[in-house]
Amino acid sequence: MKYPIQLQRSNSSALPSYDFTSINFGPDHTDHLFCADFKDGQWQNAAVKPFSEFSISPLALCLHYGQTVFEGMKAFRLQDGSVSIFRIQKHLERLNRSLQRMCMPDVPEELFINALDKLVSTDQGWVSGLPGNSLYLRPMVFATEARLGVTEAKEYKMMIVALPISNYYNGTVKVKVETEYTRAAKGGAGFAKCGGNYGGAFLPTRLAKEAGFDQVLWTDSETHTFIEESGTMNVMFVIDGTLITPPLSGTILDGVNRDSILTLAKDSGIQTEERPVSYHELEAAFNRNAPVEAFGVGTAAVLTQIGEINILGRSYFPDCSSSGVAIKLRNELQGIRTGLLPDRHHWNYVV
Ligand code: PMP
Repeated sequence: MKYPIQLQRSNSSALPSYDFTSINFGPDHTDHLFCADFKDGQWQNAAVKPFSEFSISPLALCLHYGQTVFEGMKAFRLQDGSVSIFRIQKHLERLNRSLQRMCMPDVPEELFINALDKLVSTDQGWVSGLPGNSLYLRPMVFATEARLGVTEAKEYKMMIVALPISNYYNGTVKVKVETEYTRAAKGGAGFAKCGGNYGGAFLPTRLAKEAGFDQVLWTDSETHTFIEESGTMNVMFVIDGTLITPPLSGTILDGVNRDSILTLAKDSGIQTEERPVSYHELEAAFNRNAPVEAFGVGTAAVLTQIGEINILGRSYFPDCSSSGVAIKLRNELQGIRTGLLPDRHHWNYVV
């Protein structure tokens, strides 16, 4: 093995007293974490060890110039009691695309898969199997080299932390079409899961929340007409029975759930279109009373229906019934990743 992973088990565990019926997503975490260092041109010191704080220099480059990249993925308890990580390979590919965009070193497949496997096996008691519960996995890579200077770093740390999670969004969300601020422009880093994309989204989101919405629905930077994505979700519309989602133009994240839901829709004979969709098209569909469903898909949000879309001050209300396409596809996705339905696309990696 090129990247041996040391295992140092924690002497104590928070698991016996942990209440999986009141998960506090964010601060709550499992007993261990994975970490490795990139130094002298290679990954080394790979280890699963007790979760703890760590120190870095105030000169560490991640604190200054934004070389921070992360992933968000989930592990589920299958019907047969085993634990599976959903679409590990697709997350690795996206991680490496993000790292390349930020001039950071790739994470080799063997290291990524063995790291997740070892961490999730070590902490598998934390995958409760209660309905709606799973284990959120957050791999991250950041520049640790202690040397100010606006250049790419030579030293990095990779860590993976694991957090118990229940359904993140409950119910439907209200979104506002954003026509002033921009999340990402063509040629930028919108497709990368890098920290700056999120920090820059906070202010417009805060303003939308103050106006009574849960999220903004981003539009393209040039015309502010074409829908991009929303919060930490890719967005999809079902208009007259066709599932439409914005294309991977480089400004939005290539969502793992986007790809999964598109695949499941195609499998069940639903017509799908990956193409630009403008808010004018949405307005027109609502105005002619066409059947419209709208929803966001993402690892944390799973599939969350959009109950209200505000376009330039006027609100429209997509169909959020449970008999539509959205809930059918959500149930299918959940069924596959919890082992209730056959995993015909080989999306589950059993640890
Ligand atoms: N867009 C953004 C900006 C996100 O942060 C996420 C969450 N990773 C998504 C879309 C959905 O991607 P995924 O289905 O891979 O979680």
